[in-house]
Amino acid sequence: MNVGFPFCPACDAEIEIDDLDVDLGETIGCPECGCTLSVMKVGPIELDIAEEEVREWRDS
Ligand SMILES: [Zn+2]
Repeated sequence: MNVGFPFCPACDAEIEIDDLDVDLGETIGCPECGCTLSVMKVGPIELDIAEEEVREWRDS
């Protein structure tokens, strides 16, 4: 049973993922602020801001 979703460390948005969706060390994009987050821990998930990569998250 999940108590809640993890929060984005950059913008404090709740990110609706569970630990079945991600693996340790995986990176995801925050749907709110668009920054790259890496999964530091699972069960419960802990997110940290990933180092800036040369990757475009924005569409336009
Ligand atoms: Zn964010």
